[in-house]
Amino acid sequence: KEKALIIGSGIAGIAASIRLAVKGYQVEVFEANAYPGGKLSELVIQGYRFDAGPSLFTLPDQVEELFKLAGQNPDEHFKYLKLDVACHYFWEDGKQLKAWSDVNRFAEEVETKLGEPASHIREALKRSAFIYDHLAPLFMHRSLHKFGTWTNPQALKSYLKMGKLGIFSTMNKANEQQFQHPKLIQLFNRYATYNGSNPYQTPATLNIIPHLEFNIGAFFPKKGMHDITMSLYKLAKSLGVTYHFISPVEEILVENGKAVGVLTKEGELRADIVVNNMDMVNAYKTILRKQKQPKLLLEQPKSSSALIFYWGVKQHFPALDLHNILFSGDYKAEFDHIFNKGSIYSDPTVYINITSVYKEDDAPAGCMNWFTMINVPNNQGQDWDKMIAEARKNILAKINRILKTDLDPLIEVEEILDPRTIESKTSSAQGALYGNSSNNKFAAFLRHANFSSDIKNLYFCGGSVHPGGGIPLSLLSAKIMTELVVSDL
Ligand code: FAD
Repeated sequence: KEKALIIGSGIAGIAASIRLAVKGYQVEVFEANAYPGGKLSELVIQGYRFDAGPSLFTLPDQVEELFKLAGQNPDEHFKYLKLDVACHYFWEDGKQLKAWSDVNRFAEEVETKLGEPASHIREALKRSAFIYDHLAPLFMHRSLHKFGTWTNPQALKSYLKMGKLGIFSTMNKANEQQFQHPKLIQLFNRYATYNGSNPYQTPATLNIIPHLEFNIGAFFPKKGMHDITMSLYKLAKSLGVTYHFISPVEEILVENGKAVGVLTKEGELRADIVVNNMDMVNAYKTILRKQKQPKLLLEQPKSSSALIFYWGVKQHFPALDLHNILFSGDYKAEFDHIFNKGSIYSDPTVYINITSVYKEDDAPAGCMNWFTMINVPNNQGQDWDKMIAEARKNILAKINRILKTDLDPLIEVEEILDPRTIESKTSSAQGALYGNSSNNKFAAFLRHANFSSDIKNLYFCGGSVHPGGGIPLSLLSAKIMTELVVSDL
């Protein structure tokens, strides 16, 4: 049997282990942490369970496909439900909107509450589907770094539609054109944060994202987001994959231009192929430090990071759903702070994710597990302790104003995750959530490929390489990578 070694058990590393095992490889995974999943892990404190990182689940077929590939029935191993309300939005003036998954119902809600014609929503989501249909096959499912991608019939068709794909405008400008009401423009601009970008800079092409949430759906794994990690980890184990925890790889061994294995504390281990799932920037600084550095790619601006308060709250708030957004009064100023000033705006948009709404045992009876998050700049050496203390005050004040409560005395459990700890726990450069930002139109081409052009038998997957960050794209990176391995054979 050919042998494959994988560095990192992030969601893409786990998916890669499954795909390579299915292809007949003997697979071993080396993970620096004591647990699998990287960013997609969980936290349990005094009767409260929190999903530590990702909270929004889209494109569940990417998870199901892995069970099917292994000849197993996904329904028996991984259960999830489709949300009726993708998100509950709140503003300071008392206005509220529910993003119903039924597009017509959402369009009617927008017309009733904001006076925006319902047709504007339907047309915007049709445009979003159009972008998806043209770009997904090209950018999400294939390597951008192979000639064949650019000459296949799908690509040729898309060249003819360039003008309609949003490449030449920004997300904000496109949203100002398709909607009248500033609250709706703000709501649709928020989709830029789904890959850590700035709606006032990122190309309108990213208006592809609402298609996922509205036209395909937002989902919730019945056992919580962490079950994505655990069910796939179990699947990998059932296929014979070996996982080594607390086993950081110190170096990728290269001989005569070929990757031949890895070095860990236990010594050298040799293999036919090596797959890196560690963040690319930190990988080149550490385990690939002796190799030629792709400077241009490594210096690309990173996506935003997050500040999260995991709060055990000893009260039930019936107005709150699984996903809740309390919007900033000045969105432009908020993004200016995140991307240009490297600081946190005093009136940030607050996201509250409460899994106990759907999974009651995530909090004690009558209580809720609040994952309270704001988008913040990536780590550039700011005085985080000071910024976090100020942000905590501003977040509480905003929640108190909008939900008409006094939250601080209700918080009985608190943990904090910030850009520094995101980097130390997952090795993500500058604590960025999604690798490079997509703030310029060439960003897709400035992500690292899924293979090394200098070193044979070395491949890459994960949120910092093509096609990008987020669970679905990270899973797709493992798919593209495995296809390259097979075609190189
Ligand atoms: P990572 O999760 O980055 O894991 C990499 C792994 O490699 C880690 O376990 C690390 O310990 C290990 N490693 C690193 N170096 C070494 C070494 N030398 N040796 C051995 N092991 C090593 N995505 C969504 O789809 N929806 C969301 O709602 C969402 N929200 C997010 C919120 C937060 C707070 C965060 C942090 C991320 C969020 N994301 C979201 C993004 C998503 O979590 C990531 O894109 C995805 O999980 C990245 O997976 P990955 O495979 O690249 O690996």
